[in-house]
Amino acid sequence: MTDALTYKDVWVEYGDKIVLEKVNIGISEGAFVSVIGPSGAGKSTFLRIALGQEAPSRGEILLDGKKLKAEPGPDRGVVFQKYSVFPHLSARDNVVFGLDCAGSPILARLYGGKRKKAVQAAEEMLAAVGLQESMDSYPAQLSGGMQQRLAIAQALVKHPKVLLLDEPFGALDPGVRLDMHALITELWRTHKLTILMVTHDIKEAFALGTRVLAFDKPRRDAQAPNRYGATITYDVKLDRKTAAPPPELEARVTEDVDSV
Ligand code: ADP
Repeated sequence: MTDALTYKDVWVEYGDKIVLEKVNIGISEGAFVSVIGPSGAGKSTFLRIALGQEAPSRGEILLDGKKLKAEPGPDRGVVFQKYSVFPHLSARDNVVFGLDCAGSPILARLYGGKRKKAVQAAEEMLAAVGLQESMDSYPAQLSGGMQQRLAIAQALVKHPKVLLLDEPFGALDPGVRLDMHALITELWRTHKLTILMVTHDIKEAFALGTRVLAFDKPRRDAQAPNRYGATITYDVKLDRKTAAPPPELEARVTEDVDSV
């Protein structure tokens, strides 16, 4: 079976700084991949190049076996830690807006029957994330957890092949985080999603993921920290019930990539 997402000998460099080197991985459809590693190890970069916000310096990324264009598309949804919803639009309009843009790239607005369908799809998705009572609310009227529910609805309404989550629950209180864990697990199961999620929280990584990837620098030059990039140094497929993070990884994810 073709992987949903494949990274083939991917390198990312900014000027003389090598951020990622020799990243090779295939991610199967339906996987929930947690991405961990010390700060600065290129985890967000790993996600950003799948989103198409930027192209790798070398190598290629395939989506369903086809080379990815270096531009965001409806086949990839994304949720960031903060600020991914539009403050001047109601919850409903925030979700409809994504469909407006996908269905009518120039006018960014659908009309007639198509718009009716878009509103219906938005309302169904808002209900699926638990915002059925808040469709007319504006983001400022929603709690942090509700705003993230909205961001998830906005990303999922276009039925992306891959959902990219960059520290989606990092700014939330512990209790709200647990609710969000239950929600994302349910959405992953019912919508048969393929998810890549960056997190600083190693317990979250092991609790939610079916596979955990850790990024780190296998080689380091103390005199020239830009010389070597990070790559996947740990790749484990998990049985969700028995998974526990190894202590050496637990210590490392709280550090900076260039600390030894
Ligand atoms: P992580 O998510 O693991 O903390 P990032 O992917 O955000 O790491 O960043 C990895 C490294 O790449 C950092 O040193 C960061 O400063 C650098 N970096 C990221 N984006 C750019 C950019 N557009 N230009 C230059 N350097 C960048």
